Amino acid sequence: MDDIIRIAVDGPAGAGKSTVAKAIAARLGIDYVDTGAMYRALGLKILCTGIDMHDPEELDKLLKSTEVDYAKGHIFLDGTDVSGLIRLPAISKMASDCSAIAEVRTHLVRVQQAMGHRKSIIMDGRDICFAVLPDAQYKFYLTASSDVRALRRVRELEEKGEPCNFDEIKASIEYRDYQDSHRECSPLRKTEDAVLIDSSDMDLEETVECFLSYIK
Ligand code: C5P
Repeated sequence: MDDIIRIAVDGPAGAGKSTVAKAIAARLGIDYVDTGAMYRALGLKILCTGIDMHDPEELDKLLKSTEVDYAKGHIFLDGTDVSGLIRLPAISKMASDCSAIAEVRTHLVRVQQAMGHRKSIIMDGRDICFAVLPDAQYKFYLTASSDVRALRRVRELEEKGEPCNFDEIKASIEYRDYQDSHRECSPLRKTEDAVLIDSSDMDLEETVECFLSYIK
C-alpha cells in the first residue's frame, strides 16, 4: 500500500487543473481522472433524456441506469465515448447545476473512490481533497484570476477555430465559480492541508514544476 501515490487537485473552473494534472500523470506514470468530465457526462444524459433532475424518483432511476467511466483521457457515457460533446456551454452549465444535487454527488463520489482504489492516481475536481480522496498524500488548490482563466479559454477556442466572446466566457466562469462555492452540498473550498498554487503568472511548464517540487 505504501508505494501508492494519491494526488488531489481542486480549484475553480478554467484554472488549468486538467492540463496540469494530465502532465503530472504522464511525468509520474500514474493514472489521471478528470472528475469534472464525469459531472459533464451526467449533465449530458440529463439534457438528452429531458428528465426533471429535481424529481427524486426520476433522478434515482437515471442514476441507477447510467454508467459513467473515465479511462485513458476519454469519458464514456453508457459505453459511448462522449469526449467530443461535453465541452459545449450548455453542458458546462448543466454539469454545474446537477453537481449541486446531493444524490448526484454521493453517486459520483462513490464511483470516483472505486476508481482510485489500490492504484496510484491524480484526480482533479472541486471536492477531491475533502470528499473523494481525503487520505491523499498530496493535496493542491490550483487557482488563477477570472480574467486569466477566461483569456486562456478564449485562446484555446481560437486555436480550434471556434468563435467566442471574452465577456461571455468570463461571465460563464464566474457563474460556475459562484454556484460551485455557494452550494449547500460539498461547496468548492481550499482545505487547510492543501497547497495553494496561483498560476495567474505562470505558464504550464512552470505550474507543473511548481507542483512537482512538492511531490517526493
Ligand atoms: O472541471 P469542470 O469545469 O469540467 O467541471 C464541470 C462542473 O462539474 C463544475 O463546474 C462543477 O460544478 C462540477 N464538478 C463538481 N465536482 C467535481 C468536479 C466537477 O461539482 N469534483
